[in-house]
Amino acid sequence: MRTDSPVTAATNAATEWLAARPDDFRQRLSIEEIYGADVFGLRAMRERLPKQTYKAFMRTVEEAEPLDLVVADVVASVMKDWAIERGATHYTHWFQPLTGSTAEKHDGMLIPTGDGEIVTQFSGSDLVQGEPDASSFPSGGLRATFEARGYTAWDPTSPAFIVRGPNHGTLCIPTAFVSWTGEALDKKTPLLRSMDAINTQAMRILKLFGTDEGVRCVRTSLGTEQEYFLIDRNLYFARPDLVTCDRTLFGAKPPKGQELEDHYFGAIPQRVIAFMADVEEELYRLGVPIKTRHNEVAPGQYEIAPIYEETNVACDHQMLVMEVLKRVAPRYGLQAILHEKPFAGINGSGKHNNWSLATNTGVNLLDPQDETHTNLQFMVFLCAVLRAVDLHADVLRASIASASNDHRLGANEAPPAIISIYLGDMLTDLVEQLEKGTPKRTLKGGALDLGARTLPQIPRHSGDRNRTSPFAFTGNKFEFRAVGSSAAVSWPNTVMNTIVAASLDSIASELEEATTRKQRKETLEAACKRVLKAIVKEHKRVIFNGDGYSEAWHAEAARRGLPNMRDSVTAFQVFGSRKAKALFKQYKVLSPAELDSRKHIFFEKYTKQIQIESEQMVLIARQHILPAAMRQQTELAEAVMATEGADVDASAARGALQAFSELVDQLRDKVDELDRLDDVHGGDDPAQHAKYLRDKVIPAMEDCRELADRVEVHVSADLWPLPSYREMLFIR
Ligand code: ADP
Ligand code: MG
Repeated sequence: MRTDSPVTAATNAATEWLAARPDDFRQRLSIEEIYGADVFGLRAMRERLPKQTYKAFMRTVEEAEPLDLVVADVVASVMKDWAIERGATHYTHWFQPLTGSTAEKHDGMLIPTGDGEIVTQFSGSDLVQGEPDASSFPSGGLRATFEARGYTAWDPTSPAFIVRGPNHGTLCIPTAFVSWTGEALDKKTPLLRSMDAINTQAMRILKLFGTDEGVRCVRTSLGTEQEYFLIDRNLYFARPDLVTCDRTLFGAKPPKGQELEDHYFGAIPQRVIAFMADVEEELYRLGVPIKTRHNEVAPGQYEIAPIYEETNVACDHQMLVMEVLKRVAPRYGLQAILHEKPFAGINGSGKHNNWSLATNTGVNLLDPQDETHTNLQFMVFLCAVLRAVDLHADVLRASIASASNDHRLGANEAPPAIISIYLGDMLTDLVEQLEKGTPKRTLKGGALDLGARTLPQIPRHSGDRNRTSPFAFTGNKFEFRAVGSSAAVSWPNTVMNTIVAASLDSIASELEEATTRKQRKETLEAACKRVLKAIVKEHKRVIFNGDGYSEAWHAEAARRGLPNMRDSVTAFQVFGSRKAKALFKQYKVLSPAELDSRKHIFFEKYTKQIQIESEQMVLIARQHILPAAMRQQTELAEAVMATEGADVDASAARGALQAFSELVDQLRDKVDELDRLDDVHGGDDPAQHAKYLRDKVIPAMEDCRELADRVEVHVSADLWPLPSYREMLFIR
């Protein structure tokens, strides 16, 4: 029995939106009125805090001075009034446990006292520290379950904000989450530590070159481009695989996917752009500086990107972007899907991670400037990244590994799992000159003549773009493109910061030694050239400007000895290596035990995800697909009998029945096999179990899907119980 209701409902919703006229839209507030309205940021602080308190607070934010509890009390009191004025009734310490999402537990700020009074309650200590029960968050063995104590600690460098709904408002305070012993149980703590590490090392380099006035610290900046899918919510709920796994486990490829390349940058559908405007409004209120929106390559796929910010704030804002996308979509009858590969056969989603380094005075240290060959300081930072990415390609690769990202990397739509750097013509030329000795020129892009008199001459960049590189220099920043769309970006950025800090440390030490030693002292310029030359020689193998999707590159990368970790199970092992442990320990980002706990959690999450998927697959096959197939088979059989009964040659129909029932039998056997396989426990060690799932269960899942998708195209449309790819991707 095929009920058309989800499809009909979706079609009606889409038609309704298409019919909407501009004057049906409600008037919106201007961006000036709403931007940052729900953020207790520096502006609100400056306006509301007593001068002395504000100054003391800024010393904490800018110079990492410990926060005085008296100051905290004043901040808390002002923050509470601000939040209550805006309709907030509760506050929460908002943190990022190792689950990959955010966590919150709300407490009232307006408390009934029992004798008929209401008092407000939110003190400095409520602001600074919280104590959620930590036992239900993953700790990866850092604590036993009975040791439940965990603390949240206010991160004053990321502003508090109000999350609101139609009848509630909650003051959210960004916090770090640590155990009773002080070990990091979250993603923010190591990120902040890694920012300290890179600051210390980058400042050593700047000191050598003579820092500019007012330069007190170096911070990393981050701009993330989030890709996502939107589908009609009626169809979403009719797909148990999307509801439980955020991706389709079955679904035959539609005749039209992305072949015509007509979706990318196309006109944004009415309902979708209305949704986007609402998302942007909510994010503006939260102070997230959204800038870009467009259609992506696959049908039903879109992108949202902010202006870059300091990494810590950008990471918090990225979590908010994902939450707001999910929260707003249902208002438009849509579901936002952040999974890396919700639909087979068309592009998956990534999250480009634009990373750079800047001084507190706003100077971008990765800006090559005009005469780049004279800019030694830039070359030092460039070579530090080069060295870091080559030396620690394995950790970088592992930082973006997940069961869901495995579907995307190397699938000819996303960069391969081999880490390489795209530098473009100008920087590649510069690096080659460095290797030979003294750089003498900077390649220029020149101007582009468009051949029509009415069109302006436009300047051309000195290098083209390369979409196939996992890690590309794009003008004044590096773009790490292998990050998955559902990932919390704090972890890859922690890794990025740490590996670059290590390289800056090594370079700074050599330069400091060479320019200060008693005998055969070198000038800074001579020392730089010598040190950078050696780095280029040793690490240039990681530079690759060609087509990262090609077979030839896989062979070439192997010849160069670059690691190629094809799946997460292989990649996660990196976090157990002595080299990785030493790296994170040396820069005080993660202790060996903390790193081990992450490895454990990554494996655990992987195994749980695959197990949920395979169990869901068996269920859908048995409850939806096989029953529909049996009905089809019965209809075919009845047709054969009826045809024969009418004394007409039924051999063709009989042949079709024969072929179809064989296919269905194969599917049934495969489903039974998968069911048996996923019941086997691959071992107590999650790494062992993950290996088992990768080698045995995933291939069985792939076979199962292949057979079911073949069944789908032979079943009458009115018998097929699941919304099809065409319906999900094209009803908008
Ligand atoms: P693309 O061509 O990759 O779409 P865009 O120019 O749209 O590139 O920028 C992509 C992202 O890079 C944006 O989020 C932008 O804010 C970010 N970005 C730009 N400059 C920097 C920087 N210095 N540090 C970090 N991110 C940056
Ligand atoms: Mg980009």
